[in-house]
Amino acid sequence: MDCIFCKVINKEVSSEIVYEDDDLLAFKDINPIAPVHILIIPKEHIQTVDDLDDRHQALAGKMILTAKKLARDFNTAEGGYKLLFRVKKHGGQEVDHLHLHLLGGAPLVDKIYPINIEE
Ligand code: AMP
Ligand code: ZN
Repeated sequence: MDCIFCKVINKEVSSEIVYEDDDLLAFKDINPIAPVHILIIPKEHIQTVDDLDDRHQALAGKMILTAKKLARDFNTAEGGYKLLFRVKKHGGQEVDHLHLHLLGGAPLVDKIYPINIEE
C-alpha cells in the first residue's frame, strides 16, 4: 500500500520517533508549524476519523492520552497546547492515514476559514 505513514511505521521511511507501542507510533512532523509538533498515529491503517467505528473506541482514547503524555514529556503541558484532527478534504487532511497533531511550545494562533464555501 502506498501510504507514507505506513512506511514510517514499517521504518521504510525515516522519522524522528518519540513514542512507540503495539498500537501507536508518535513522531515529529517533518514540516512543523509550532515549536512542538508531533503526530500520533495508529499502526492500523485507518484513513480518517470518519472511518472510526465502535471497535476503535479504546484506540482513539489512547491516541488522546498519548498526546497528553507527550505534551508533558515535551514541556508544553503547563502552558497548554492544541490537539488537531483534520478530516478529509474540507478539513485539510493531506495524508490519508489517521493522525492526531500535538501542537504546542508557544501561544498558537487560530486560522480556520473556508477556502471556498461553495465547494
Ligand atoms: P494533515 O494535513 O493533517 O494530513 O497533516 C499531514 C502532516 O504530515 C503534515 O503536517 C506534514 O508535514 C506531515 N508529514 C508528511 N510526511 C511526513 C513524514 N514523512 N514525516 C513526518 N511528517 C510528515
Ligand atoms: Zn497507512
